[in-house]
Amino acid sequence: MKKFVFLDRDGVINKNPIYLDYVKKPKEFMFLPGSLKAIKLLYDAGFTVAVISNQGGIGKGLFTRADLKAIDKKMIQGIKKAGAELYCICYCIHHPDHGCACRKPKIGLIKRAVKGARADKKNSYFIGDTERDTVVGKRFGIKAIAVLSGYNNRRDINTKWKVKPHYIAKDLYRAVRDIVLKGRR
Ligand SMILES: [Mg+2]
Ligand SMILES: [Zn+2]
Repeated sequence: MKKFVFLDRDGVINKNPIYLDYVKKPKEFMFLPGSLKAIKLLYDAGFTVAVISNQGGIGKGLFTRADLKAIDKKMIQGIKKAGAELYCICYCIHHPDHGCACRKPKIGLIKRAVKGARADKKNSYFIGDTERDTVVGKRFGIKAIAVLSGYNNRRDINTKWKVKPHYIAKDLYRAVRDIVLKGRR
């Protein structure tokens, strides 16, 4: 069985674009402080790290699959340079109104990432910056951690989110440090 850590991308690994916009080019993809160190820590601890991200801007025609591929290249290279590796990167590229089965908060992308493997759900996590990420993690039956490095703050989570995360962490590194070093369960 694999211990999965599913990571949302924007606002977790890299800086969020301005609200409601998208990362459309590699130069707009900027790693957040500590995110590479966090992925390396997960990798070294034996977690299977998968990126799970909605990129509906493709369905909207705002950027292309080739742009996304170029952005992936930058992300993969950065992670490789940090001494780690991703298991897979799964995107929903459909228009938000498409009604597909993969767009978060549906669990289609997680299923695609897990495929033939078996997930050790007790020891798997979803880490994201939006309520949608918390919902998808809980729907899949794993722990959901909300990070404050994206579009939210502690007050919003406590007052506005209908679905609450298991934990809140300042950023990806703090979340991962808690999982790996403190064995937070
Ligand atoms: Mg996000
Ligand atoms: Zn989709």
